[in-house]
Amino acid sequence: MAEPDRKFIYKTTAVKRYGLTPHQIDQAVEAGLLKNFKYVKNPHYGSGPRSLLLDEAELQGVLDKVRALPKYSEEELRRKRAYSERSRKAGRASFYCPLCQRKVRPLRTSYARDALLYGMISPEEAKIVAIVTHFRHVHTDYDEQRRQLLHVNSQSIEPLKDGKTIEAIELAKKCGLLPADFTKEEYDKIALKIKEMYDLY
Ligand SMILES: [Zn+2]
Repeated sequence: MAEPDRKFIYKTTAVKRYGLTPHQIDQAVEAGLLKNFKYVKNPHYGSGPRSLLLDEAELQGVLDKVRALPKYSEEELRRKRAYSERSRKAGRASFYCPLCQRKVRPLRTSYARDALLYGMISPEEAKIVAIVTHFRHVHTDYDEQRRQLLHVNSQSIEPLKDGKTIEAIELAKKCGLLPADFTKEEYDKIALKIKEMYDLY
């Protein structure tokens, strides 16, 4: 590891110390605001991209100008917008669980969440799936029984899942999260749309 000169600081240090973004520093270098810089081998990943070292005194001298530069690149802005759009959509499928006394969001890795993001199911349908799967996994003994069954015979998982889904639906109704006349058949219709999207058979 190359020891930097005392007056040189890593770009990541500059970001933290002066409340800048990596993009602002890159632009300051490109625009020639910062002239005294050098690249060194990355101290953490020898094979990674080289690290940028900045002259701290020079940076301090143009700090206001660097701070005035755009914080994010177009690409970063696009990604931020896409991310907030996704989390806004996923938020519409969240619900407050009175048993856990907290807001439950659909799992980031769930098929239902993806189906919602791709517009295959409505936010209302995604919320129903989030409620039923949460209740099945957290408020019935489905996971425990499933674990035990897997040791014996994986063929019998489906009937167990069906039974526990019904139990979860009834419990969610008692908590006022599903309409009293909601049926497992309605749930299965939504689940089928998600399965079809992924060919999960
Ligand atoms: Zn809960």
